[in-house]
Amino acid sequence: MTSEQRLLVEPSDIEAIELLCNDCAASVSLKPSDVRHFVGDQCPNCNLYWYKNGSQIEQATKGMFMAIRTLAKMKQDAKVTVRLHIVQKVSD
Ligand SMILES: [Zn+2]
Repeated sequence: MTSEQRLLVEPSDIEAIELLCNDCAASVSLKPSDVRHFVGDQCPNCNLYWYKNGSQIEQATKGMFMAIRTLAKMKQDAKVTVRLHIVQKVSD
């Protein structure tokens, strides 16, 4: 039997975003709440460039990080709450 667990997450609940290098499997954990953290262009371990310069996936990754930071920091400025709805399938 398979069931689903549903989890509602507000951007302010997101402590970190992990970037996992597809080449060497090193991971970088970045905190949207920390202004010193930003999404880099290359792996800090093997120096692989993760994106083609200016690609949509690069913009989306960096944009998601900045959006989460803004939504968490400025949530009191809106009369709506943004929540991510996460579904986890659980098998017996
Ligand atoms: Zn790497």
